[in-house]
Amino acid sequence: MKSALITGSSRGIGKAIALELAEHGYSVVINYDRDEMIAHETARMVKELGSEALLIKADVSWKDDAENLIQQVMDEWGKIDVLVNNAGILPKAKRIEDIPDQEWDRVMGINLRGAFYCSRAAAKYMKKERSGNIVYISSIAGKDGGNVGAHYAASKAGLLGMMKALAKELAPYNIRVNAVAPGPVDTEFLTEDMKQKLAKMSLMGRIAKPEEIAHAVRFLIENEHITGETINVNGGRYME
Ligand code: NAD
Repeated sequence: MKSALITGSSRGIGKAIALELAEHGYSVVINYDRDEMIAHETARMVKELGSEALLIKADVSWKDDAENLIQQVMDEWGKIDVLVNNAGILPKAKRIEDIPDQEWDRVMGINLRGAFYCSRAAAKYMKKERSGNIVYISSIAGKDGGNVGAHYAASKAGLLGMMKALAKELAPYNIRVNAVAPGPVDTEFLTEDMKQKLAKMSLMGRIAKPEEIAHAVRFLIENEHITGETINVNGGRYME
């Protein structure tokens, strides 16, 4: 059985990715930072699908936590076939003059640096195996700037830069690196008010379901000739 670690997978998009991969034969690592009860529930759902689930608490923005997370998966299962860097936070919308240093650092710490820590630690093992898959959950905001602010957009655009650099660097080791850039998705990330407003901005007249993001992630993992690519899942709101 292949193993997949999805950061921030207790709920929302991460949970949908965990269930999608479990349904298609992957053992799944559920990572959470504080919501232990719902993480247990997600692990239970993974097991119900006939897959193995490993539950690991770690705040990916802390280097030791992120490195221990990867190490624990290696200790338990001896391999990481897939890493999905999904953990992220949405800060309050702010103009640049109102973004305090601390908030910039927190958004970068979780959304970008956490993904770097996990990728660096996992790549070390994937390189030895000469096989692996890394996927980043970016955002439409990383493409068009979004409407939250410089901090969120920079963190999500940063993921796309890291993804392309690693796709080049790791291809010789048979490791593929890709990204999904969702538009608004129906999770607890957004308020109901935001969801209604954002639905009107999509050509499809609605926001995405988490399962639609999970489906794109699995496609990227399974297509063995795609690397350095980003799939936009945004109902036609932003086209390239
Ligand atoms: P969510 O708030 O429902 O889930 C976020 C998950 O990340 C949670 O499980 C949370 O516990 C985890 N998390 C947060 N900080 C963490 C940390 N320091 N360490 C480990 N885990 C941590 O949000 P979601 O909508 O499922 O978002 C998932 C990802 O998708 C995020 O990176 C987000 O930026 C991105 N995204 C979401 C939307 C959307 O509209 N929902 C749109 C574009 C991109």
